[in-house]
Amino acid sequence: MGLESALGEGYLTTKVDSLVNWARANAAWPMPMGLACCAIEMMAFAGPRYDAARFGSEVMRFSPRQSDVMIVAGWCTYKMSHAIRRIWDQMPDPKWCIAMGACASTGGMHRCYGVVQGVDNFLPVDTYISGCPPRPDAVLHALMKIQDKIKSEHSVMLDT
Ligand code: SF4
Repeated sequence: MGLESALGEGYLTTKVDSLVNWARANAAWPMPMGLACCAIEMMAFAGPRYDAARFGSEVMRFSPRQSDVMIVAGWCTYKMSHAIRRIWDQMPDPKWCIAMGACASTGGMHRCYGVVQGVDNFLPVDTYISGCPPRPDAVLHALMKIQDKIKSEHSVMLDT
């Protein structure tokens, strides 16, 4: 009798999933993509006052290979979008993306030919933060939404 059938259908996959998701959700290292003024609030989010270490996200990585969550903060030009997309492609799966502020989410006040009208035109954004600029605690809230998303994912497939 296999372990899976002894414990019940789906028991192992459910438990391993929960463990892996718990670890992932509590060690989501941000890739700071500061493009404009919103980046100042993103830096405040990473400081001691807001204590991102409570969520395991105090480790800002400037290498895409070591990052889990890209935070795009600020308005993005078309020229810059190619570089950001390349960095995103270099991040290992699974990965998540936060569009921080009105400009990253929609282009904001920059209704002009040179600015991308929302980074979801070239990135799979998981959550958006409204505001101009959003407060650092709004970044924490977005991070908690990403955590909820991670916890609901199926991360492991066991061959039974
Ligand atoms: Fe700057 Fe406001 Fe745009 Fe953020 S949303 S980049 S603070 S103009």
